[in-house]
Amino acid sequence: MKTLLQRLFAPLRALFGGLARTGSSGYLCDRCRWDYGDACRRSERPNARICPDFKAR
Ligand code: SF4
Repeated sequence: MKTLLQRLFAPLRALFGGLARTGSSGYLCDRCRWDYGDACRRSERPNARICPDFKAR
């Protein structure tokens, strides 16, 4: 069971986790599990540099 603090900070962790994975030149989408077909309908795709839904492949 998640604690209240874990729930409060989950969006921030997702945001900063995405920032950390962006790297020097690439986009998050290039390494994201949801970058295929209709799996992701975010407007940032395929050039997201910050994304709360990023999930590494
Ligand atoms: S979830 Fe975010 S990082 Fe992943 S493909 Fe969609 S826009 Fe790109």
